[in-house]
Amino acid sequence: MTTPPNPENLVKLLNSVFGFARFRANQEPVCRAAIEGRDLLLVMPTGAGKSLCYQLPAIALGGTALVISPLIALMEDQVAKLVALTLRVARIHSGLDRSVSRQACVDYLAGALDFLFIAPERLRVPGFPEMLAKRPPALIAIDEAHCISQWGHDFRPDYRMLGQYLPALRNGSERVPILALTATATPTVQADIIAQLGMTSPARFIHGFRRDNLAIEVVELSVPQRASAICALLAHRDRRPAIVYATSRKHSESLAAELSQLMRAAAYHAGLDADTRERVQRAFQSGQLEVVVATIAFGMGIDKADIRTIIHAGLPGTLEGYYQEIGRAGRDGAPSRTFLMHSYADQRTHDFFLNRDYPPTDHLHQVFRMLGEDARPIDKLRSESKLTDEEFDKALEKLEIHGGARVDFGGNVTLGASGWKKTYAVQAQHRAEQFGKVLRFTTSSDCRMSALVRHFGDDADATQSCGVCDVCDPAGAILRLFRRATNTERAMAQSVIDELRAVDYKATGTLQRSLDPSGRTTRDDFEALLDAMIRASLIAIEDAEYEKDGEVKHYRKVHLTEAGLQTRNIASVELLLDDGIAEEFASPEAHNRARKTSKRDEVSAGHVTNRSTTQSTRRVESVLPHTLSADGEALAARLKEWRTGEAKRLRIPAYCVMHDRTLTAVAFVRPTNPRQLLEIDGIGPTKVEKFGPAIIEICEAKLITEN
Ligand code: ADP
Ligand code: MG
Repeated sequence: MTTPPNPENLVKLLNSVFGFARFRANQEPVCRAAIEGRDLLLVMPTGAGKSLCYQLPAIALGGTALVISPLIALMEDQVAKLVALTLRVARIHSGLDRSVSRQACVDYLAGALDFLFIAPERLRVPGFPEMLAKRPPALIAIDEAHCISQWGHDFRPDYRMLGQYLPALRNGSERVPILALTATATPTVQADIIAQLGMTSPARFIHGFRRDNLAIEVVELSVPQRASAICALLAHRDRRPAIVYATSRKHSESLAAELSQLMRAAAYHAGLDADTRERVQRAFQSGQLEVVVATIAFGMGIDKADIRTIIHAGLPGTLEGYYQEIGRAGRDGAPSRTFLMHSYADQRTHDFFLNRDYPPTDHLHQVFRMLGEDARPIDKLRSESKLTDEEFDKALEKLEIHGGARVDFGGNVTLGASGWKKTYAVQAQHRAEQFGKVLRFTTSSDCRMSALVRHFGDDADATQSCGVCDVCDPAGAILRLFRRATNTERAMAQSVIDELRAVDYKATGTLQRSLDPSGRTTRDDFEALLDAMIRASLIAIEDAEYEKDGEVKHYRKVHLTEAGLQTRNIASVELLLDDGIAEEFASPEAHNRARKTSKRDEVSAGHVTNRSTTQSTRRVESVLPHTLSADGEALAARLKEWRTGEAKRLRIPAYCVMHDRTLTAVAFVRPTNPRQLLEIDGIGPTKVEKFGPAIIEICEAKLITEN
């Protein structure tokens, strides 16, 4: 390649070739880096428009782009789109006639192609890489690049071989950029991709993981409580359409049955026949079904923009999977909410799955020892094995993935390489660690969206809080309730501040032991207090780890924030503690239990005096249930009417204009100026600006008629 193409031409090509008016976020810098000949790693969520980031530079550079893609369906989809743009495209994969592949090679060598798509395993065919190398491509794009990494969730051994062929394909000195694209790669996977592909000082583009319209709520809820909470949540029409992710097929069936009594809901899981699944998917897509209760298998092919709620009725195995799933909500940009329900029981369920998906190495050894150079039928091996059929199949599957066994199309097995032990052990370990990250996500007091964005490696973006999750906006939470701290808790919080003032940081456990040597406070209660202090911006907690006996141990470091340092007297600070879930969502037993706790009574009593003596009434209103007078009720009704109109006008759900709880608080407080309005929880500056005048007018009108 002689002179690089002029970047100004990129927009012209974008219009003329692809018919797009403008670049989407982040596409342009990526295209520029590519035409400068830089290797690059591009991590953006599904649907962000990654394909264009190799397709446009390919056209700009001229020559043929070589695209490596792991799935035939994906490849066919891209090919069809490019053909429709009248570009010259060929593909080579196992689903095609040999003559088609041959013609593709001829065209490639003649320089008659803009794009050649190949499946990775093609490179193992003798002579094929050499054929490609005769005419270096303009660039090499590797789609779904996370498959290359054994840390990625779709590890493909064929992808792992790519690295060894690339130098030849790049044909020595000539600059042929390698573009690795993926929607899901944690920093570990990113590093692995770069190393495996031998990319040289690649540009990294990791963008677009923040979703402004998703409010994430994480709530601890025992398994028996979840069904009724889910029913109560989805009983609100505003919260549908919705997807509920269940932990097992049985679980999805039972939840769907319960929901069906209230709304149009159905189960969807891998145990249903293809027809049923297809029907459910179509019915959901078209709006006939409002709720689908699914196992992980649902959602891939869904292109539904108006999903308002995603509920996880149990903990997912990885944060990547979780992010993909919640990401299906609110594609239309309207506010949407996601709920993650968890409890200690989820860990046990997960251990069970882990053991099932990653059987003991010993099982793999047993199968490996049965293999030889001569191909033997699977059925025969299975019946000779001491393992159960299920165990045998799982072990063989794992052996094959990790290269310890080769299975041909006829179902015959031969011995593979012994290297499988290492990659298998590493991957099983990794899976366990991934779940550890999910657990830490649930217990963390960080902004939920920031935590996810950081997980994907966009550290710059992660510094910004979302403002709408249960951590950023506790009072806006729907399932979770918060209460004001008791006097005892306030005293303890004061000691935490005093204790930390003298040091850089302390481990949470050490801190608790020094403040409560007699051990009267349970660990959970202490953690809950720390969480409240984080929400009040007094302290910050960081995850840290150390190694002991070759094992990585996790702990949490707590230190004072600037605001914490300046706080001499805790009395001036609003401390909100987790108080379980809102009664309307609780099952009857939980409901009774909540009533029995004397804590809340104590809190309410303390609250009234507090309210008159401190200025800090912010967040107060939603913490306590309001008992409205008859006039208050009338005002609430008028506010509701107004809210319905606003929601219609703005085409958003009513609760996005204002929560019920907030609305009640407004009717209770009757604000007459924006400052008073701001003090009501659930109302921030944006809302004041947007709705303030209208709300105040309604409240004042009420006062006038009263007089
Ligand atoms: P990804 O690979 O990141 O999941 P795709 O590359 O398949 O996403 O793109 C998703 C959709 O966005 C495609 O239909 C594509 O045509 C469209 N698209 C990409 N870039 C633009 C753009 N600049 N303007 C309009 N649509 C675009
Ligand atoms: Mg793609």
